[in-house]
Amino acid sequence: MRFISADYLYTLDSKPINNGVLQINNFGEITNIFKNKAEIPHQNIEFFNGILCPGFINTHCHLELSHLHNTSNMVNGFSEFLEIVKKRDKYSKAFIARAIKSAEDQMIKNGIVAVGDICNTTDSLEIKKNKKLYYYNFIESFEVSSKKSSDAIAKALLIRDAFRNNNLKATITPHSPYSVTPDLMKLIANVSDEFDYTFSMHNQETEEENILFKKKKGKFHNWLKSLNASAEIWTKRSSSSTVLDELRPKRIILVHNTYSSSADLKDKYYCTCPCANLFIENKLPNYSIFNSDNLCVGTDSLASNNQLSIIKELALIEKNSNFSLEELLKIGCRNGANALGFNKYGTLEIGKTPGVNLITGSEFGLANSKVKRIA
Ligand SMILES: [Zn+2]
Repeated sequence: MRFISADYLYTLDSKPINNGVLQINNFGEITNIFKNKAEIPHQNIEFFNGILCPGFINTHCHLELSHLHNTSNMVNGFSEFLEIVKKRDKYSKAFIARAIKSAEDQMIKNGIVAVGDICNTTDSLEIKKNKKLYYYNFIESFEVSSKKSSDAIAKALLIRDAFRNNNLKATITPHSPYSVTPDLMKLIANVSDEFDYTFSMHNQETEEENILFKKKKGKFHNWLKSLNASAEIWTKRSSSSTVLDELRPKRIILVHNTYSSSADLKDKYYCTCPCANLFIENKLPNYSIFNSDNLCVGTDSLASNNQLSIIKELALIEKNSNFSLEELLKIGCRNGANALGFNKYGTLEIGKTPGVNLITGSEFGLANSKVKRIA
């Protein structure tokens, strides 16, 4: 049993508590929260200078692309980024596995406790079996030809079941509005079952996606035609958001939203990956359109980021928005846990096992802060 205190506890389900104390058992479960240090004999308290918050939730990552780190410094737009990802299979499985392991270690070191991770393969399965982090695995389906929809869903089902057979949470999810045909979207909806809490889909990451749906032309249009894509992708749909009518998700996390406007937003969870957006498109979302109750944050993969660190992502949001420190921490902890259905995580509440992060230096802005997991 430990008693942990700091200048402030950011519980994220109530106001920050000055000098509050967390009582935590040997399983990491919060068993009590005291509003005042004086309630506990002081020799029992571990006091830290700084603030305490729950463990971070990385709502969007592609762990299996970790080996593509440093294959380019900066890319010139999304199409160039896709070229890098296409080279993913040119590496040995052992090399890929080592990169995944070290990426996971990096997340643990940076105070991340749970991850929404996109999977196109089972490359990350062995590491995830160790349960060092808690994962929601989104098995991503990507197929632009209607003729190949049944092959695509069959492949995704094999991967999903490989994860589920190892007691890991897995849901088949569409890659993006422009890379999944209406047929495939319906198949994804059909195979969804009671174990699927939510979906996750890349959304409005580039301006070209909007142009495709609005004007039925542009770079994505040309690119899709060169792939012999089924025209229903753009002819049957008027915008990225109408794509959701085919899936009718209970819940969905829309990822990136770099080119979303307030008119595009619905009652969904939105995940931002600012470091990756700068890396790929050199553009950030307009943060003033989002609210701090349903915005989550992710690192995306090491193929488009120099590190897997939620505090670095939050520092970038802080610099480009008016969110308060408490709102930023909700974005980094609570909202992602809610979006992924991880109800033991995300807030410092009795009965939860959220992990506890110590943040120092936040009074000078998160860009200068350090994070350390202390429980
Ligand atoms: Zn992504």
